[in-house]
Amino acid sequence: LAALFEKERPRLEPLGVSAEATSRLIAFLEKLKAWNAHTNLISFTDDEELFWSHAVDSLMVLSLAGAAASARAIDVGTGGGFPGMPIALARPDWRVTLLDSVGKKVDFLRAAASELGAANVDALSGRAEELARLPEHRASYDLAFCRAVGNFSVVLELTLPFLKTGGALLAHRGEDGPDEAGAAASALTLLGGAFRNNFSYRLPHRDKTRHILRVEKTAPTPDAYPRRAGMPAKRPL
Ligand code: SAH
Repeated sequence: LAALFEKERPRLEPLGVSAEATSRLIAFLEKLKAWNAHTNLISFTDDEELFWSHAVDSLMVLSLAGAAASARAIDVGTGGGFPGMPIALARPDWRVTLLDSVGKKVDFLRAAASELGAANVDALSGRAEELARLPEHRASYDLAFCRAVGNFSVVLELTLPFLKTGGALLAHRGEDGPDEAGAAASALTLLGGAFRNNFSYRLPHRDKTRHILRVEKTAPTPDAYPRRAGMPAKRPL
């Protein structure tokens, strides 16, 4: 892993990933591999895959996020910590909440954050549908991230309630990303969001184009959303 990071330095530097952040990120990925050997956190294949599809893919968010200092951010359905943990390590000035409904994943993230001394990370277990109704979380974040959690309107319902008006969702999507933004037009209006732009990229040795969609929170989300746990995925808006 360290060799891969060294070799790909020119790709990481423009994203603002410091040498210090890089060494913490390597330490995080090594911990993830070690835990994953006994607790199922991610489907791990090899270091190349971990580097490109998890670390670098996560960090691509930084190409859209601008330099906004001291943002409060939430990663909804973070799993083994993606994209939230690499972002948090690269941006120690942001406060990043990593949310997942699976307790053992959150236990790992909490332990890893503490061992790495990542004081800007909070790991939280629970369902987005429930957390987004609590006053300390609702309309409280400047940024939301979400990767591989469901179809785009599910992602919108699970993330937009967390954002302050003026905040932004930076959502990883696969090759159909731009079409999904169009198809979710009515969900966007309903939830108080507006599609702003799309960042497209490719990762080496992978043939499919990836996208990060930026959605701005333009109005408060009505109280009816998110619907009760399970409903967003069962009956997407
Ligand atoms: N974002 C990670 C993990 C994707 S797998 C990555 O890209 O690698 C989807 C994750 O979302 C799982 O860990 C699952 O537990 C979590 N999840 C799904 N629905 C959720 C919900 N409603 N609230 C919180 N977490 C959820």
